[in-house]
Amino acid sequence: MSDLSRPTGPKIIAIANQKGGVGKTTTTINLAAALAEAGKRILVVDLDPQGNASTGLGIEVEDREYTTYELLLDDIEPEQVIQKTETEGLFIVPATVDLSSADIELFANEKRSFLLHDALRQTQMDQFQLDYILIDCPPSLNLLTVNAMIAAHSVLVPLQSEFFALEGLSQLMLTIREVRQSGNKDLRIEGVLLTMYDRRNNLSQQVENDARANLGELVFQTVIPRNVRVSEAPSFAMPVLSYDPSSKGAVAYRELALELTKNNG
Ligand code: ADP
Ligand code: MG
Repeated sequence: MSDLSRPTGPKIIAIANQKGGVGKTTTTINLAAALAEAGKRILVVDLDPQGNASTGLGIEVEDREYTTYELLLDDIEPEQVIQKTETEGLFIVPATVDLSSADIELFANEKRSFLLHDALRQTQMDQFQLDYILIDCPPSLNLLTVNAMIAAHSVLVPLQSEFFALEGLSQLMLTIREVRQSGNKDLRIEGVLLTMYDRRNNLSQQVENDARANLGELVFQTVIPRNVRVSEAPSFAMPVLSYDPSSKGAVAYRELALELTKNNG
């Protein structure tokens, strides 16, 4: 029988925004690391063919024999695709460019939107005793992202604190509504996260005001500051929490993890 403290299995969160460069991958890696630091067991699913989350968590391309592609489209055991990372309690299903063709191949499959949902709910997943699964989505509202939203309990939306940040959000919300109608009626919005926030910049403040005025409670109290240590960490193949544990970025992601776990009881 599975752990009584998690009778319903891990909480699954899709990190999504069809804009590129808004902080999806950075948030996936560092929120995952912060939750792991707090003693949770976390799986990151790299659903972006660019494989940035895999690289950022130290999985080199030659070590990605089995990937999200196989998880979705082949009959494969979870223990074959799930790899450990250097961070205790943090695991990953890595991705390679192969995943870019999966988007097309998925169309031929009658269960095309439910492949990730089904893969993550196999009973063999139980052995990992996960508390959270974070899915790093590609910068597109394609079938891969729809798979993430069908599989997930909630969507976390990173929003870069810059001009036009809120633009495109209505399209994302529309996709979420469609997913609710087509197979995941309970899909929630976990929260909207302001990233790359610069306190000295009026624009950041303005974006924050706009976001809080328009989206209210949906916006996380925690904001992620623009911090050079955050952007350096991936080239050292580690979360900023390991690269520079006392940096502003690391502190902010710990705060986010705390806010998220509070919201989740
Ligand atoms: P996405 O996954 O949405 O495309 P990334 O997480 O890859 O976005 O972030 C885009 C770029 O911005 C990356 O180079 C990343 O290092 C940088 N970045 C993200 N968050 C921060 C931050 N808080 N401070 C500084 N740079 C950041
Ligand atoms: Mg990314």
